[in-house]
Amino acid sequence: MQRITILGATGSIGVSTLDVLARHPDRYSVFALTANSDVDTLAEQCERFRPQVAVVGSADAAQHLQGILRQKGIRTEVEHGKQALCDVAAAPECDAVMAAIVGSAGLMSSLAAARAGKKVMLANKEALVMSGQLFIDAVSASGASLLPIDSEHNAIFQCLPSGYRRSPQQHGVAKILLTASGGPFFNRPADTLDLVTPEEAISHPKWVMGRKISVDSATMMNKGLEVIEAHWLFGVPANQIEVVIHPQSVIHSMVSYVDGSVIAQLGNPDMRVPIAQALAYPERIDSGVEQLDLTKMGDLQFKQPDSIRFPCLQLAYDALNAGGTAPAILNAANEVAVQAFLERKIGFPIIATLIRQVLEQVPATHIIAGIEHLIEQDRIAREATIELISRL
Ligand code: NAD
Ligand code: MG
Repeated sequence: MQRITILGATGSIGVSTLDVLARHPDRYSVFALTANSDVDTLAEQCERFRPQVAVVGSADAAQHLQGILRQKGIRTEVEHGKQALCDVAAAPECDAVMAAIVGSAGLMSSLAAARAGKKVMLANKEALVMSGQLFIDAVSASGASLLPIDSEHNAIFQCLPSGYRRSPQQHGVAKILLTASGGPFFNRPADTLDLVTPEEAISHPKWVMGRKISVDSATMMNKGLEVIEAHWLFGVPANQIEVVIHPQSVIHSMVSYVDGSVIAQLGNPDMRVPIAQALAYPERIDSGVEQLDLTKMGDLQFKQPDSIRFPCLQLAYDALNAGGTAPAILNAANEVAVQAFLERKIGFPIIATLIRQVLEQVPATHIIAGIEHLIEQDRIAREATIELISRL
């Protein structure tokens, strides 16, 4: 029996994870569930999955949850705050952690799971983008296993030989081909992008996801973050990671080898596939997702990304090449800019403009001295972005 903590249980990935767990009660039990403020959903999840611990963001939310659980006679212990997130990620009663909090808010708890040597199923790509080498070092120091949940990285993981150790040359890997759907605006003329509304940006053609990652997909910053994520997960340099637009989202990514072979992973676009793969690895379990019917797929298309209309992808490559704290600065500026766009304070194309300005303005350091240093750089970049928005 594997005992699971889900960080961000009420989100899109969290709910999909619980859906897979519910199909296999003989294999998995839930140790802890966490949410920021969606107490009602978390209470329902506690009723169904009976975790030992539930964690919420604030004392008020904790009191509210406690009240509901007491009324229903559910004995889940309720905690709140950032330290409690790290505690349930590192607890000895937990074997595996689904890290599915969105954004930098998930950094410390994802890292806590890595430091505690857990099986870390990483959806929270921003944590790895921010901390890079620090995260990878924590994984190797503790002997944790790191399993990617992001569909592209999970696909790449499946296309690499078992026992692959972050060394492309040793395994004859020539390139990683990261597929991208292109997002909802792939065919939209450049001069209409400033009219894009948050509603349009979050309605993704192929995937149903949280709001932040949906906007990232629309700007293609999601693919940029994924390039950085792939670099850290698989030890592949930026110039060997290529983005290919594949609007059908059937091929989830590919690995190209020096002998000319290209290995791809295919499946219906449903996050329960990578979630089930990571949960059961190296075994396979039913994910609840329909088998792919190749005859119903129609044509598969592949195109080059458009870096003029979607400058965020190049900004991410630039930050990766600059190294050190540059990806953390990029991530912080993006989080603030996306939030401002969702609150209708800035137009869609301004997201990229702000990120570029912040990267130019906030000096990155070559080495990440430690987690405090990283948090400080994140704070400085956020303040710089807020300041730029206030001057618009
Ligand atoms: P979501 O917005 O649906 O859910 C986010 C979860 O994080 C919620 O449970 C929320 O309560 C929690 N949370 C938010 N802010 C928090 C805070 N300050 N403190 C504590 N908890 C907080 O997001 P999602 O779409 O499930 O994405 C989660 C992560 O997975 C992101 O990093 C995203 O990039 C990644 N991811 C998602 C998908 C997808 O299909 N949704 C695919 C690949 C990767
Ligand atoms: Mg992805």
